[in-house]
Amino acid sequence: MISGPSGTGKGAICAGLIAGTKMMLSVSMTTRPPREHEEEGKSYYFTDKACFREAVAEGGFFEYAEVYGEYYGTPKAPVLAQLEKGNDVILEIEMQGAAQVKQSMPDAVLVFILPPSQEELRKRIEGRGADTPERIALRLGQAEGEIEQLERYDYSVVNDDLGGAIRDVHAIIRAERLMGAGRGAKFMSPEDMAAIRRAGRLRVGQGARKIIESYQAGNIKKQ
Ligand code: 5GP
Repeated sequence: MISGPSGTGKGAICAGLIAGTKMMLSVSMTTRPPREHEEEGKSYYFTDKACFREAVAEGGFFEYAEVYGEYYGTPKAPVLAQLEKGNDVILEIEMQGAAQVKQSMPDAVLVFILPPSQEELRKRIEGRGADTPERIALRLGQAEGEIEQLERYDYSVVNDDLGGAIRDVHAIIRAERLMGAGRGAKFMSPEDMAAIRRAGRLRVGQGARKIIESYQAGNIKKQ
């Protein structure tokens, strides 16, 4: 599961992550209206609130949440089909939904994408040119609230360079697979060991407060 404030580049990371792999990026269903460049069935499945509630009642979602007055949910069937084949599934979802997934599937891994700094996040949101100053302030405030919840995540990745962030998430996935399989160190390749070391540096663990403070101070280091 990939989460994080808007403007951190989650979408680009997810797209880069699955390219050339067997991993699947789950397509969510939402009641919010499509944006200009968005395509039905690719960005989202767009629906209305009545249909969404019906799907909830039928148990059709793996998880769902209400965000800014609209519903967002992960359709259950495609995710389960993929997992049964032994392939990993990437969900780009927010924290309420991620917490539901974690509860029903404790092996699921939660990665938080951090912008390099508050200043950089402001620039990225302003650079989209889509928001009024009030909305920019609102989004930045929301981002701060989300970052404060970092301790609920397994890993944090700073997106100061897209390629590096994608490699970080790949290392996390590889390391988690190896650890899940309980493979001993002597059976691991040098690439496996490198992934485990790289992922280890990205673990949040007890370090959440320190990461938040260095982000707020504008000197977060790319690990
Ligand atoms: P947006 O409207 O900007 O596409 O998405 C708003 C928020 O909803 C983002 O934080 C995004 O990660 C989250 N989101 C998208 N799809 C889902 C979903 O299926 N479930 C949950 N819980 N959140 C989602």
